[in-house]
This record gives sequence, structure tokens and C-alpha cells, in this order.
Amino acid sequence: MRYSRRLDRVPPYLFAQIDRKIAEKKAQGVDVISFGVGDPDVPTPDAIVDRLCIEARKPENHQYPSYFGLPEFRASAARWLERRFGIKIDPGCEVLPLMGSKEGIAHMALAALDPGDIALVPEPSYPVYAMGTLLAGAESHFIPLTADGGFLPDLDGISPDVLSRAKLLWINYPNNPTGAVAPMEFFERAVEFCRRHDLLLAHDNAYSEITFDGFVAPSVLQVQGATDVAVEFHSLSKTFNMTGWRVAFACGNYAALEALGTIKTNIDSGIFNAVQLAGVEALDNCQDDIDRMVGIYQGRRDLMVSLLSSLGWEVEPPGGSIYIWLPVPEGFTSAGFSEHVLDRAGVFFTPGNAYGPSGEGFVRLSLTVPDDRVEEAVRRLREVFKSDW
Ligand SMILES: *Cc1c(COP(=O)(O)O)cnc(C)c1O
Repeated sequence: MRYSRRLDRVPPYLFAQIDRKIAEKKAQGVDVISFGVGDPDVPTPDAIVDRLCIEARKPENHQYPSYFGLPEFRASAARWLERRFGIKIDPGCEVLPLMGSKEGIAHMALAALDPGDIALVPEPSYPVYAMGTLLAGAESHFIPLTADGGFLPDLDGISPDVLSRAKLLWINYPNNPTGAVAPMEFFERAVEFCRRHDLLLAHDNAYSEITFDGFVAPSVLQVQGATDVAVEFHSLSKTFNMTGWRVAFACGNYAALEALGTIKTNIDSGIFNAVQLAGVEALDNCQDDIDRMVGIYQGRRDLMVSLLSSLGWEVEPPGGSIYIWLPVPEGFTSAGFSEHVLDRAGVFFTPGNAYGPSGEGFVRLSLTVPDDRVEEAVRRLREVFKSDW
């Protein structure tokens, strides 16, 4: 039979191709060190795992969860938002638990967009903003993020034509893949812009806790009146090394959360209660673990940046996220350089153009590689570049 036309528009999933390439190398006996996928290597903190084990044994946690999440989880999310950002959110209707923010982001598009509508999507970016838009039958208008522009979108450069059909603006700071962070003034501008043009502002704040050199990432909801136009996506995945657990939440604009909730109640049945209660443990009690992880990522970042600079390669150290966005040497494309490093050093970097055409000329290095492997990669790269440079 013929499957849906919307699938014809979906390109092959980037990381499936990458996994295949790395698997080929491994099959040839190469000990590949991959800086590809951004998946924390350090285990989930013990306190969170212990709480899961306790809650998993309670029969009352075994049935279908509530569609809108456990009141305990919503209250814990609201407490965390207040403690961390000083914002007051009604846990009753301004927090919506998600089975990971990826589904929330994709479903937000389904809740907000019709065919003919436009979503404003920065690029390079996390692929789900554009893919969710596409699966909703709508179109992405891509806004390039450039080094010269500090990897912030030029909102004033969007044509009135596009704006008249636009419904939604995606932003994401600390940013994947560029590692850029955004100051409060940018969030103020974005809120004002969305208010003026009647857009939903959707901020993906998955890396809010992973910032360096003393920078503290804001929430868009700190902007006066932001809940009129904005929703923000938070995830426990990167913050607490919980990518496999599938627990996150959206917060902010009530109408947007209600629309998203309507999609979700018809598609999924919520997060395992024991996982939500483990999430409460994380949000309420695991600040020390966050601090420890940020220290680890900052150490790896500094190791890489200093290696590169010793090779005469000046890199802007990222202000946040778990990535280094590295300009490739003259004469290389992103894909060409990625392949070169894989062939010569058995080290894998993701080609930047995989996140959008403006990523051409860059590769992304994920800092989720254990310290001893970072050191080994550094040693191999030094050898390769000594002979090539
Ligand atoms: C990893 C990541 C997420 C988190 O996804 P989950 O589904 O919550 O695991 C969201 N946004 C970006 C930009 C990411 O890199």
C-alpha cells in the first residue's frame, strides 16, 4: 500500500545515517570516539534511581497516569521555576508534563499550525522544530543564525508577507547546536515581537542549567507579561542525565498548553507515575548533581578548546549547552571535514549542515564523552594535525 504523503516530505533521520557510518568504521576494527549524539554519558544520580525503585513497587503507581500529570510533579515543576527563575506559575493550569520535550515540541506544531501556516524556525537548529511543522502540514520559514549575529535570529529582517502567515516562533537558548546563550534583552525583544505580530513564542530551554563561566540562563517567562504569548519547554533529560526516562514539562501560556494537552490526550496517556515521582526527586533535591555535571562539561570544553588553540585554531568557547560549534579549516566542507577526521583519527564530529544550511562550514562536538576518551581523542587529533597542518 501507499503510505501517507506527509512521509514523502520527511528526509532520512540524520542520526540514523550517522550511526551507520560509525558502525561501518567499527566493523573495520576502528576504535571510534564519537562526539556525535548529545546524550549524557554520566549515569542518572542515585537519589533519582532510588526514588524510582521505591515508587515502582507501589501498586497505586501501576495504572494509567492522569493525562495532565501528577499534581506532585506539577507542583514540583512550579517550585523549581520559582526557585530558579523567580517566576510564579499556577501548577494547576500553567504546567503540562511531557514524555520528553521532543514529543511536546512536535505536538505543539500539531496544536498550533494548519496547512498554509508558517512557523518561524531558526537554523541551524534541533531538527524537531522543522519536522513537527512539516508533519503538521505547515511550512517552516528558516531564519539563519550566524556567528556575526551572535547566533541570534534577526527578527526585523522577516518580510511582512511571511509574517502575515506566521503563527509560531521557535527559539532555543542555550542553543543546540551553536552553544550560544542569549541575554535577557533578546527575550524581551522576542516577546514584544510576538505580541506585535500575534505569534506564539515557543522557547526550548532544554539547556537552561548547563552554562559556563558564571552565566545564568534566563527563562523567557521572566519577561513582564510573557505568559500572554509564550510557552517554554523544560526537560529533565540533559539537566539530570535522564534522557532515557522521558520526562519533561511545558509551562507558560494557558491557552497554548490547553491546545497541546488536547492533542496529547488523544495520542498518549502520560508519563509512568513512578517516573514522575523520580522527577520530583530530581527537581526538588538534586542541585548538587547539576553543579557537578556543569563542572565536568566545563572541564571537557576547556580541554578541547585549549587543544584546538594549541593547533592555532581559535574557537569561541560556548557559553552553554553540551556542544562546541567548531568552524572547519579552510578548504573543507562540513561533511568533508567530518569524514577526514573519522578516517584519519577515528574521531567523529557531526557535520554542521545537518542542522540546516547555515551550519555549513561548522562541525558540532558533543561534550558527552568521558574524560579519558576526550584525552585520547585529543592525542589522536594532535597526531593527525601535526602531519597535515
Ligand atoms: C536534547 C534536546 C531536547 C530534549 O529532548 P527530550 O525529548 O526532553 O529528551 C530538547 N531540545 C533540544 C534543543 C535538545 O537538544
